[in-house]
Amino acid sequence: MNATIELENQYCAHNYHPLPVVLVRGEGVHVWDDAGNKYVDMMSAYSAVSHGHANPRLVKALSVQAATLSIVSRAFHSDKLAPFLKRACELTGQDMALPMNTGSEAVETALKAARKWAYEVKGVARDKAEIISCEGNFHGRSIAIVSLSADPEYKEGFGPFPSGMSTIPYGDPAALAAAINENTAAFLVEPIQGEGGINIPPAGYLSECAEICRQQNVLLICDEVQTGLGRTGKLLACEHDGVKPDGLILGKALGGGILPVSLFLAKQELMDVFQPGTHGSTFGGNALAAAVGLEALNILVEDELVERSREMGEYFLGLLQTINSPLVSDVRGKGLFIGMEIDPAMATAREVCVRLMKKGLLSKETHETVVRFAPPLIVNRDQLAWAADQIRDVLADMDLVAKAS
Ligand SMILES: *Cc1c(COP(=O)(O)O)cnc(C)c1O
Repeated sequence: MNATIELENQYCAHNYHPLPVVLVRGEGVHVWDDAGNKYVDMMSAYSAVSHGHANPRLVKALSVQAATLSIVSRAFHSDKLAPFLKRACELTGQDMALPMNTGSEAVETALKAARKWAYEVKGVARDKAEIISCEGNFHGRSIAIVSLSADPEYKEGFGPFPSGMSTIPYGDPAALAAAINENTAAFLVEPIQGEGGINIPPAGYLSECAEICRQQNVLLICDEVQTGLGRTGKLLACEHDGVKPDGLILGKALGGGILPVSLFLAKQELMDVFQPGTHGSTFGGNALAAAVGLEALNILVEDELVERSREMGEYFLGLLQTINSPLVSDVRGKGLFIGMEIDPAMATAREVCVRLMKKGLLSKETHETVVRFAPPLIVNRDQLAWAADQIRDVLADMDLVAKAS
């Protein structure tokens, strides 16, 4: 076995099951391994690398800022934070933002905001606030967040969990209406479930949920850590349904594939529940992260990456849908956020990923059955056509193997 992998297995906790490849360099949509092999990255670090690896503008923003001022904590102001948050608020139509680092932290922030809002604004009785989320969700890994999960793999062995959390079926507005009661603070939802398997709810789902929430005085909080910033062909996936949520969570691509940068954005009434001392993060909103985050947003707009995601996504989905393989039971996606469902009777999604890796295409299964394709948004037509050819070949090879056995 590769010595680097052996060393990692010895010293790194086994909380992931990586494909057996050791990457040493990245540029644009490509990454290279320790033997010099080149790959097209269709994983993009779970959609964090939308701008491409080592994007020159982001590398420059990072190095200039690192040499100027990186971290002072929010005990002081820095000249970089406000311009970043102003841009993020203007682009998303939100009033204010609270900067954190990882997606999970921004989700935690949203949960805390929603609970405090329930007590201070809605008038829910002390310690009775409830948060509703959906089966199949992925919102991160903290104890509070996994308590929202219906997936035993995420939860088992980590109890006891905080109370006041419930889950309902995804894609079913009636289930939301039925689950809401006087103590409901918020409905937390992904506009498209990413880790759950690129699950796209019926059209109009989110707008119906938004209407239910509005009528019942419940906050609609959209977790767009993965779907946000152009991944699905709109700046925000909730725009597909014409919805502006009360709270919005961004992460992943916000850091330009370089740093962990996340935000909880909200309308003023919601953000006003936070007072000095009620919440914070040593690194959240640091000048380095703010400089990189602002540049990431600027590139997204100036290079028209959202439009590109929509166009290239349509093109790639079209190519994948022409692949006629008995292994594939469904291909679905929006923008460059595409999932290919592998029939579990024929193969596992991981087997497909391992074979794609050998052909120079990196992807990763989500759950047992879905292969995801989420390349950097800068990917071009030729690269996608090449990728579709590799996928077609791998599926054809696997079909032959299946028929022979
Ligand atoms: C990845 C993800 C998170 C968690 O982000 P981390 O940076 O890994 O903490 C939260 N929500 C969604 C929808 C995600 O895809």
